[in-house]
Amino acid sequence: MNDNLSLRDSYDVIVIGSGLGGSTLAYQLGKHGLQVLVVEQGDYLKQTPRKLNEPVGIYIKNFANETKLVGGPSKFYGAAMYRMRESDFRSTQHEAGESPAWPISYADLEPYYCDVEQLYRVHGSPDGDRTEPPRSTAFPYPPLPHAPRVSAVVERLRNSGACVSAMPRAIDYRVGGKCILCPTCDAHYCQLDAKMDSEMAALRPALATGNVTLLTRTECLQVLSKGKKATGALIQRDGKTQTIKAGIVAICAGLPGSARLLLQSRSALYPKGLGNSSGCVGRYFSGHTTGMIFPLIGITKLPAMHTKTFSINSFYEESPDWPYPTGVIQAAGQMPFWESASLPAWKKLAARLVGERSLYCFYMTEALATRESGYEFSNGNIVKTTPPLENSETSKRLKKLAIKTFNRAGYHVVAPSQLSLWHPVGTVRFGQDPSSSVLDPTCKVHGMENLYVMDASVLPSAGAVNTGLTIAALALRVGDIIAGKEASIQAHETEQTARTGVLVGL
Ligand SMILES: Cc1cc2nc3c(=O)[nH]c(=O)nc-3n(C[C@H](O)[C@H](O)[C@H](O)COP(=O)(O)OP(=O)(O)OC[C@H]3O[C@@H](n4cnc5c(N)ncnc54)[C@H](O)[C@@H]3O)c2cc1C
Repeated sequence: MNDNLSLRDSYDVIVIGSGLGGSTLAYQLGKHGLQVLVVEQGDYLKQTPRKLNEPVGIYIKNFANETKLVGGPSKFYGAAMYRMRESDFRSTQHEAGESPAWPISYADLEPYYCDVEQLYRVHGSPDGDRTEPPRSTAFPYPPLPHAPRVSAVVERLRNSGACVSAMPRAIDYRVGGKCILCPTCDAHYCQLDAKMDSEMAALRPALATGNVTLLTRTECLQVLSKGKKATGALIQRDGKTQTIKAGIVAICAGLPGSARLLLQSRSALYPKGLGNSSGCVGRYFSGHTTGMIFPLIGITKLPAMHTKTFSINSFYEESPDWPYPTGVIQAAGQMPFWESASLPAWKKLAARLVGERSLYCFYMTEALATRESGYEFSNGNIVKTTPPLENSETSKRLKKLAIKTFNRAGYHVVAPSQLSLWHPVGTVRFGQDPSSSVLDPTCKVHGMENLYVMDASVLPSAGAVNTGLTIAALALRVGDIIAGKEASIQAHETEQTARTGVLVGL
């Protein structure tokens, strides 16, 4: 950002946050010719020169939890960009309860999945994945090639009966593209600007339209409103506060940022916070219950290589002797996790011996939102987090299936017991019913005229695939809605024109 940047008095849209939701929304709005100001509390990630194949734990240690950045956490993401499955948009019965129906269907989002796969340069193939939903366009780029050692594992898995498929990845591996399939991708930032994170894929093209301005190191303190109308934002930069006016405000501050900002923006009409009349802001939190497994594929230390190229999705719906959706198994990138773990020396050594000889894989099961799951804030700080409902037996079964799948292919597996919640979603969910959601199906705050939220917090459920592509696809859709160019409207208009055309032709 240019420190001497002169700001307009007013913008068509202020977008707060430059993560996957914010940057992609800004791109779509800029493309439609709207004047947009993106306000980002973080700065550009400073790139420190180093050799591409040296250990990278230091980067994970220093940055992985630091999301105050242009691009947000997507600077470190694994770029696994999956369409959610058709069933994820419907109400689904799980072991511990129900995953809710979305207010839109897969078919509503499908045209945006096509566009966003182009924007994020997704490489993939539906082959070998029977859970892949119908698509109206092919993947823009072919799947990534496996590294030779990974290819050998995939072959043994397939020969032992596993359904292995290519992982869709958003990286610039086109002919002439910048990606060299190095090992420092998943959980690292890309020094070659070859990973299609939100800055590279969406924000830079947004800025290139000439319609989008980015203010870095600028925190939005409050969304300003008058009655049912958002009027702008109160922002703070270098200790100075300033008011910026806008016709539309879009909060894209991620989790927990968007919920926090809505609560901080209370007004006389909305004393409990904007969008919080029914107390849903901060609630209905969910994500993926995730565990790691380490199939040992070498006796000696493995070479540095790009390993994140395959998945096993065949247990997405029910699995053997289990009627409930079960989850996915995915290869992860190489990460020297032992370097940043606070472990006693002998445990660190054991972790290193295993880590250097194994392929890192993880298994993910959907965790369920409840009215209680989410954050409680006091003065803008989270004072309590209630986790989502875990499908515990399902997660245990998936872990056993993952171990068995690799055992059958002839690999011993080290399987720690620790579980984490990945890809958090919810807390500002969209829905039809204002008593159980914050946003309407267009992602506009119920009851308000021009306040939108667009990021991971909008999703009512997480399914069991990575959520990034869906966040970005929804952002393209919200951009079209704001600009009055939604695909369904366009399709309807085209249909009308075609009909009129036929009539005129007669
Ligand atoms: C190591 C790692 C690997 C991952 N791998 C994958 C993967 O392979 N595939 C996948 O789909 N997902 C992955 N994810 C998850 C993915 O990165 C997130 O789901 C996604 O980035 C969330 O996007 P978002 O739009 O919700 O907002 P965020 O990306 O959270 O961005 C919010 C932005 O808003 C800014 N902000 C917040 N509050 C304010 C404020 N008041 N004023 C101004 N700015 C503000 C923040 O600084 C941030 O830049 C991974 C995450 C991590 C950490």
